[in-house]
Amino acid sequence: MKSHYRVVIIGGGVVGASVLYHLAKFGWKDVCLIERKVLTAGSSWHAAGGFHALNADPNIAQLQAYTIDLLSEIEKESGQSVGMHMTGGMTLAGTPDRWEWLQSAYRTFQSIGIEDCRLITPEEAGELCPIMSTDGILGGMWADREGYVDTTGTVHAYAGAARKRGAEVIENNRVLELQETADGWRVVTEKGTITCEHVVNAAGLWAKQVGRMAGIELPVSPLNHHYLISDTIPELEALDFEVPMTVDLEGFTYMRQDQKGILLGIYEINHDHWMMDGAPWEYGFELQQEDPDRIEHELTLGFERYPALQHVGVKTWVNGAFTFSPDGNPLVGPVRGKRNYWCACAVMAGFLQGGGVGKSLAEWMIHGEPEADVFGMDVARYGDYAQNKRFIKETTGQFYTRRFVMTYPNEQLPAGRPLKMAPAHDAMTAAGARWGASYGLELPLYFAPEGFEETPTLKRSNAFPIVAEECRAVREAVGLLDISGFSRFEVTGAGAEAWLDHIMASKLPAPGRARLAPMLSETGKLKGDLTVFNWGDGTWWIMGSYYLREWHMRWFADHMGADVSVADISDATVGFSLSGPNSLKVLERLTDGPIAELPFMGCGRFDIGLVRAKIGRLSVAGELGYEIHCSAADHIALRWALLEAGEGLGLREVGFNALLSLRLEKSFGIWSAEFTQGYTPGMTGMDRWIAWDKGDFVGRDAALAERDGDGPAQVLVTLEVAAEDADASGYEPVWQDGKRVGFVTSGGYGHTVGKSLAMALVDRDAAAEGTALSVHIVGQERAARVIAASPYDPAGRAMRG
Ligand SMILES: Cc1cc2nc3c(=O)[nH]c(=O)nc-3n(C[C@H](O)[C@H](O)[C@H](O)COP(=O)(O)OP(=O)(O)OC[C@H]3O[C@@H](n4cnc5c(N)ncnc54)[C@H](O)[C@@H]3O)c2cc1C
Repeated sequence: MKSHYRVVIIGGGVVGASVLYHLAKFGWKDVCLIERKVLTAGSSWHAAGGFHALNADPNIAQLQAYTIDLLSEIEKESGQSVGMHMTGGMTLAGTPDRWEWLQSAYRTFQSIGIEDCRLITPEEAGELCPIMSTDGILGGMWADREGYVDTTGTVHAYAGAARKRGAEVIENNRVLELQETADGWRVVTEKGTITCEHVVNAAGLWAKQVGRMAGIELPVSPLNHHYLISDTIPELEALDFEVPMTVDLEGFTYMRQDQKGILLGIYEINHDHWMMDGAPWEYGFELQQEDPDRIEHELTLGFERYPALQHVGVKTWVNGAFTFSPDGNPLVGPVRGKRNYWCACAVMAGFLQGGGVGKSLAEWMIHGEPEADVFGMDVARYGDYAQNKRFIKETTGQFYTRRFVMTYPNEQLPAGRPLKMAPAHDAMTAAGARWGASYGLELPLYFAPEGFEETPTLKRSNAFPIVAEECRAVREAVGLLDISGFSRFEVTGAGAEAWLDHIMASKLPAPGRARLAPMLSETGKLKGDLTVFNWGDGTWWIMGSYYLREWHMRWFADHMGADVSVADISDATVGFSLSGPNSLKVLERLTDGPIAELPFMGCGRFDIGLVRAKIGRLSVAGELGYEIHCSAADHIALRWALLEAGEGLGLREVGFNALLSLRLEKSFGIWSAEFTQGYTPGMTGMDRWIAWDKGDFVGRDAALAERDGDGPAQVLVTLEVAAEDADASGYEPVWQDGKRVGFVTSGGYGHTVGKSLAMALVDRDAAAEGTALSVHIVGQERAARVIAASPYDPAGRAMRG
């Protein structure tokens, strides 16, 4: 052990070993991994070692595919067998909805280029796995590259390949303490103190404590998990092939062959948290006592699915713990305010995801950002609110229990809610608001009559006519929307303007004006679709998506300038928007200020009723519209005033579902759909807002190279889809004469244009207006046509008028 390394990775499970391997592979030699006991001594040794293709986040599914390919590579490099059994695998559907969902998932896979999958009938499933009963199975998805590995062999293969590239592994040495220094970290270990530039928390079951060593509270908790290994099954002995890895979603089980028996793993309905503050330091190769009573129902289903289990014994029970974040995806990346402290934690499926996590983190550390859009596993997708222990318990428990339970796109899950509520929440609930949650905040989705229950569905829901009425109210009269769910950052100080000019790619707005402002990374990828306000008194605002608050604050902190301060005021400052032809009339009833003179994209201070408000004239709905911001204490009074002034003017409270439909009618993109950190300004049309003639700004060289190059391979278009009872939602493949030419970024029904709409990234030669295409929606192929952007009011008269 040396006294200084460039990087110290804490934890020798599959994740730490993969980070070590990738750092060494990408050229950082002076890296070491410190392990408390021996490699694999956390949850890695007792994992079932299975890998399969599905993940709800397509970006993570892609990283899983990368991991699967990597396993044979590390075997070759290290000379250590990973015990690969590439049996192929299948995911089974046992209800009509699930079968439809699986057909959609298959199409999503095509969109992201995972081609080695196919849909199978119950009969085929039975032939592929003769020891399985196909009772109740409606269909399945087969994937060639599924199977299992030897877990200990795999961790040693990662570590061995890293060692061959010059990295070091130090075992039997617990990290006791971390101290931040001016240029990195001091790592106090049982065998002495090391200094380093970077530390990586890959401590698995102990991630919580290793977070606390640096003053970080990670939203992670271990939960227990059972699998059993059966005695030899004679029917399996008689087969001359290995049965595939099989996931029975409605049965809550996964199964793979284990020698001549099977391993049956169970996602437990009655979940069981274990050591929420992290495993005890002395914990090693022990397991928890099995608890078959707690999983009796799932076991019964498993024994029915694999009837041979009713005749052979259980050779081994495993009840071990592994870690979960609130949404089940890993927590990866840097933490704001903790320079060079990196997370690689909460990896629920290390043998499936560890490769992708290691690759992305190593790229991040070396190049400043990962190659792929990894927001779905970025630690900054959570804020302070998610550090609450009860929140962690409820959300991780919900994820675990629902791991194999189908969640419909319009379903709102209850864990950790309600947490953050705008002050007028109760009054809006009384008015019929139905709520969703984003980053812990309750957001109104739509306003329904008393007793209305929305049915979970993959297709158009029974809330469709309600949302249609809300959209019509906006287009014909005026809609009132609680916009507390936008982020607001206040930028002040003598250096504010210079700093904003540097981090935003757009021109800055003049005093009393707002401007759409793309923010780019150094490599020219999108980092924000923001709006900058110049209030004219030295105060600037940046507005964006509420759920990106921590993500953006981390970016601002990493790119901070001199004499500037950025405050996240999103919870202290809230508000409402008015959209529609009558919105000005409503405001005129409430102010004697010059509101009628406020130009499109203008902003200023106004008294609205009793409230001192800040108003910007802009509208995501594409109407004459105003965003009215007030302090949280004024939220209720502002709503009262606006409702009262709207009487006789057709004012109706509306929710975000209506806004999503209205913005689609305008072809306005949104973050996480049309705009992500995986895309560039040229692909998405964001280049319209770049100020090419201003001085230097972050990402300028890369953006110029894109502008002056051959142009992006794919561009954003608007599609009209011949849909019937379901609309596109995102990641559906787009076809031209049987060839895949792109994918949907988002979709929905345009209620006031009467069309099913989608936005899609398609190859440039399929992007011309009028091009005939097709799109798979909930598994069904539908005709589609490229139409001109903004099917509603293309000239923007309503918005500007
Ligand atoms: C029953 C069961 C079945 C599973 N089946 C699968 C499966 O089929 N497929 C799959 O992909 N995943 C499976 N998993 C999950 C898998 O085990 C985990 O995703 C994976 O092990 C996580 O690896 P890790 O490296 O993050 O953590 P860990 O394996 O917990 O490793 C963390 C390491 O950090 C070390 N450490 C902690 N603190 C310190 C410190 N202060 N100083 C030095 N060292 C420290 C620990 O000793 C430990 O070795 C299963 C889990 C269980 C419990």
